[in-house]
Amino acid sequence: MKKKIWLGCLILFLLMLATGSAAYALYQPGFVYRVYIDGKDVGTVANLSEYTNILEEMLRKEEAQVGLSLKFSQDISAKRELHLKPETDQSQVRAALAARASYSTLGWAIVVDQEPLLCIATEGQAQEVLEQVSNCFVHDASNYTLVSTEIADPVEIYPEEVLPEEIWEVEAAVDYILQGREKTETYVVAKGDSLWSISRSANISQTELKKANPSLSSNVLKTGQVLNLVVAEPKVNVQTVEQVKAYESIGYSTSTRYTAKRWYYQSTVVTKGIPGKKAVTYEVEYLNGIETGRKALHTKVESNPVTKVIERGTSKWPSAASGRFRWPLNTGRITDRFGSYRGRGHTHGGVDIGAGGGTPIYAAASGTVVISQYGPSYGNYVKIDHGNGYATLYAHASSRLVNVGQWVSKGQIIARVGTTGNSTGNHLHFEVQRNGTRINPLQFFKP
Ligand SMILES: [Zn+2]
Repeated sequence: MKKKIWLGCLILFLLMLATGSAAYALYQPGFVYRVYIDGKDVGTVANLSEYTNILEEMLRKEEAQVGLSLKFSQDISAKRELHLKPETDQSQVRAALAARASYSTLGWAIVVDQEPLLCIATEGQAQEVLEQVSNCFVHDASNYTLVSTEIADPVEIYPEEVLPEEIWEVEAAVDYILQGREKTETYVVAKGDSLWSISRSANISQTELKKANPSLSSNVLKTGQVLNLVVAEPKVNVQTVEQVKAYESIGYSTSTRYTAKRWYYQSTVVTKGIPGKKAVTYEVEYLNGIETGRKALHTKVESNPVTKVIERGTSKWPSAASGRFRWPLNTGRITDRFGSYRGRGHTHGGVDIGAGGGTPIYAAASGTVVISQYGPSYGNYVKIDHGNGYATLYAHASSRLVNVGQWVSKGQIIARVGTTGNSTGNHLHFEVQRNGTRINPLQFFKP
């Protein structure tokens, strides 16, 4: 009985051995790695290096395309499993991962006043963007010296995981921050363009156009110049302080001096006024390129102004005769000059000399009396012909003392001062005529 049991056991053992070796021949148990993306099974690979190679390859390929260092947005993992008959398919895993994977990168967010504006690839580039923005309004001219420029708002840079397409190029980021929009409408000045024509064709007022282009210094445009057609609304406030050296003119004053050597209505510039020149250094503050204040730091006078000197005459009585005539009165003074405007297109044809009624009037030169009569304007008047085309006339007399055709000699009393005819007071209206034309009697006298 014991023998039978032992035999049974032996047979069973042999049987098991046989089936076991058969199983061993069919199946070779081993480890595989099951790959998961965000918990989803995407197949198995043979070993860890296959797994890491696939991931590495995917990353490198994508990185080469976008030019950024990337990581997978999903959670990807591999788990070791024991299989009796391990079967793996890395191309299937690769395809399944490629179909599901997406990528992110570590960007640097520029945050202004707690508002994230955009992301830059590196911290250094983000700093460069801010640097360029704060230097944007600095004048590049020899008379400007930068004192300081800074972004007045609180600005932070911090790393943030973002999609690669969210990363901005430095130049585009600077434009965006300064313009306040992604695309700027610009206009390239063509030959013959003016602010007027551009304003009309782009339907933007000249005021807006100037506001959109603060650097425009004059209305004259240069061909090829690029104008903004939209007023910028910068995302930051850039405060710039500069010292500006400007040359300014100093106005001259005018002084008048008086001389008896000219007739009272004559004046002449004896010294031309010349403006002075000063160099003024201003400290100017700008907000986004627009001046918000200035103060003069120091002034250096480069040249003083030259005072303009006017010499004005005072003479109302001749000092001497300089020609063929004597002065027709021995007393009085000039009350109105030859040529003064008398209204209705008329100018004064002689010289008025104020003197008391009855004052003797002398013939200015010898000659023949050609008129001695009363007229509605002249009142009592006498005209003497001196020959050579010259004649003299004496008007408003109270009495006439000569007759037509009478020869009178120079200095002879011919009439007396009065206020007859169109006159408002005692005076002599004295005319000199040359070939029938009234000329200025004072040209024959020195003031
Ligand atoms: Zn007169």
